[in-house]
Amino acid sequence: MHHSAAVRRSTEVGSPEDILRRAASAPDHSNFPTVDELVAGFDALEAAHPGLITSQRIGTSRLGEPIRMYSIGADATDGISTLSHLVVGGVHPNEPIGAWTATHLLQQLAEDAGLREGLGARWHIIPCIDPDGARLNEAWFKRPGERSHYARNFYRPAPDEQVEWTFPFAYKRAYFDRVLPETQALMRAIDSTRPDLYVALHNGEMGGVYYYLTREEPGLYEMLHRIPAHLGVPLDKGEPESAHLEPVAPAIFVTGPLEEVYDWLESLGVDPFPPGSGGDASSSYARRYGTLSLIAELPYWKHRDADDTSPVDESYASLLARTGAVLRDAGHQLAEVLEQASPELTLDTPMLRASRAFVPMVAATGLTNIARGEQPETARPATAAERAGCLETVHMYRLRYGGMLLRALSAECAAGTATHTLRRLVDELEMLYSEWLADAAVDDADAEVIPVSTLVGVQYGAILAAAAHLAAGV
Ligand SMILES: [Zn+2]
Repeated sequence: MHHSAAVRRSTEVGSPEDILRRAASAPDHSNFPTVDELVAGFDALEAAHPGLITSQRIGTSRLGEPIRMYSIGADATDGISTLSHLVVGGVHPNEPIGAWTATHLLQQLAEDAGLREGLGARWHIIPCIDPDGARLNEAWFKRPGERSHYARNFYRPAPDEQVEWTFPFAYKRAYFDRVLPETQALMRAIDSTRPDLYVALHNGEMGGVYYYLTREEPGLYEMLHRIPAHLGVPLDKGEPESAHLEPVAPAIFVTGPLEEVYDWLESLGVDPFPPGSGGDASSSYARRYGTLSLIAELPYWKHRDADDTSPVDESYASLLARTGAVLRDAGHQLAEVLEQASPELTLDTPMLRASRAFVPMVAATGLTNIARGEQPETARPATAAERAGCLETVHMYRLRYGGMLLRALSAECAAGTATHTLRRLVDELEMLYSEWLADAAVDDADAEVIPVSTLVGVQYGAILAAAAHLAAGV
């Protein structure tokens, strides 16, 4: 597509100024929507714009919930050459920022013909690809911002139960083909839309914003930096989530095939495919259509040190070793509780399956960080951002996976099936967990809650920037 001039006038749809203005005017919310509220909002938009918005059922969740995709914008039958963009919410059901982003995107495309026509695309939006998982997070969706409430009501599926990371994968010793119904639905959506741009609406937790792309697009990086700067969200320049990746620009990473991660873990002496591993990512699957995938990882809380690259009085090697040891020890404590509880457990819950998968990963991640700290290139001063990131990794793992184990065990108490032994274990875990919450609160003094309008604005702005970038063909 080369119909647009490479340099847009500032008032023109898709110009940097236009995108920054749109990013800064996302509506505010005090919560994240429940699945029912989210779907009702999409259905109301479709009803309000008949003929403009269409929807189709693309699949069914494991618990029987219909999953729908909503489409808007010119298509090939209109005789206009257009791009195709696919935007999917809830790929990780504990990451709800995209629910409001998807809602705002569909609403703006419906109500603003200039935006709809200016970006030259047909848009396909799936508000929630994993409704069953999202429902298990709804207690904190109603009251986000308070970290202890969030952590105690957090649910992230086991890797082999996540829509993201359950696409087929076969490499060396790895083999995954237990594709979920929701993943099959997303696969069909990718096959039918053959997207030019694919946005899986992920988000992070604490720190700053960072991005993943599936290929280098240097013309896009400036806007991906300007949008959060305009809205007051720091870039995350610290500890990368995927330690095998080097940024191509500050806080922007290009992801390669999963085979590269496998080889990297193997080179560290870590098991690259432990029991319970999932498969490949949705963006890997979309590569067959030449798709550019974009992920904008927004945190709920911004940390003062997220973009501070000045050195601190500790080597990176020592930071990795120190925080790796804390994680390893926490993992062993959780594993001990789970092992003692196992003979007492009668309920097969998603929280228990997730705990069985993630509890071993806590210690394994600690051991990976310890191994990284032995690499010669880590013998240099750490940055403030890296220190904040490594400490945050400890809090995130302890609070998420400790919280889910507590939920799994407490479910037996609520159901009236907990033995005396199990109740004692719940009390012990509660004491340990309370200490971890208190530890996190100390470091969180340097963090502040980001308004939902800002989170949505950055994610929405990033989508518009990528769409405008592709439309301009630069
Ligand atoms: Zn995610």
